[in-house]
Amino acid sequence: MNNFDFRTVPYLISQTGAAKQLGDIITQHYPEIKRVLIVTDAGFLRTGLIAPAMANLEQRGLQVSVFADVVADPPESVVLQAVSNAEKLEIELVVGFGGGSSMDVAKLIAVLSGSTQALGSMYGIGNVKGQRLPLIQIPTTAGTGSEVTPISIVTTGATTKMGVVAPQLYADIAILDAELTIGLPTKVTAATGIDAMVHAIEAYTTKHKKNPLSDMLARQALTLLWGNIDEACKNGSNLAARQAMLLGAMLAGQCFANAPCAAVHALAYPIGGIFHVPHGLSNSLVLPHVLRFNAPNAAGQYAELASIIAPDAQGSDEARSSALIHAMEALAQRVGIETQLRQVGVTVNDLDQLANDAMLQTRLLGNNPREVSLADARAIYAAAL
Ligand SMILES: [Zn+2]
Repeated sequence: MNNFDFRTVPYLISQTGAAKQLGDIITQHYPEIKRVLIVTDAGFLRTGLIAPAMANLEQRGLQVSVFADVVADPPESVVLQAVSNAEKLEIELVVGFGGGSSMDVAKLIAVLSGSTQALGSMYGIGNVKGQRLPLIQIPTTAGTGSEVTPISIVTTGATTKMGVVAPQLYADIAILDAELTIGLPTKVTAATGIDAMVHAIEAYTTKHKKNPLSDMLARQALTLLWGNIDEACKNGSNLAARQAMLLGAMLAGQCFANAPCAAVHALAYPIGGIFHVPHGLSNSLVLPHVLRFNAPNAAGQYAELASIIAPDAQGSDEARSSALIHAMEALAQRVGIETQLRQVGVTVNDLDQLANDAMLQTRLLGNNPREVSLADARAIYAAAL
């Protein structure tokens, strides 16, 4: 067994309805704090689902400000604007309340507020200096697992994304509350759920840092996600299925925070960057093709996961590995999301640029069970077209 270290968020609350007690939770853990910033996006704010949490914060005498200008694939300018607002308001605690983008922006507000370090010097692994403001994360999709990861993804150029990865980005508290996810459209539930499954699958086969804890989390995450995704898509108001999805996505987040993702994510990022396809769907589109490419080196591990996703599969590792890939393909079709790159606007003329951009994702590609060349990346995109 390899040596390993393992970190996660120290305090986790998985309880339907818990967000309504946000004020109680904050005053219990941070009795001195008065000024709280909620970071979200305009669309989620409009749902009104934040209102009960806000009411509880106010009941507890906390001053609450809301930054609702987060957009998908947040650019640096949004982060810097949010930090400037937070500093003006002398914010003492940051709550990320939304999907991965809101939680990623919340992490950076917490580390940048009051810091003299520039955002540009934080990209990469372990480059954040100093401490941060107290940070609570409340996901409103069951997918990214950002509530328990030390990663924040920012759009730095027209199409380029950069990651800040540092232990300071782990939140103090993560709250999983299914009531916040009941309004999610079926396709969002499906794509974000598949993204969470990709986190577990990639962490289980990652070349570096795979360990018994991450393996255990990957299996439990897949059990919950696979066991509930159809019901959550079909019957979006089923709170038990929604809570199980949130828990599965969080376990997958804990898993890939310690045993990192690989080529599926590396090839998904350029699709998001160039074509503005949501993160979960980008992953789902390339997933079966990357798994097929990896199978010569990873069939044994895919076969182990097939015991959860394709339990009836029999025979050799290769046969059970194929059954896992087919099951994931069938899931994407069953839940009605796009399954070919051409359906999101990609043409054969885009394949070179996609492949070139994917090769820049060295942080992820280095973890892949099989080395990916430029020609391989192009071939995978071509197969996904
Ligand atoms: Zn992901």
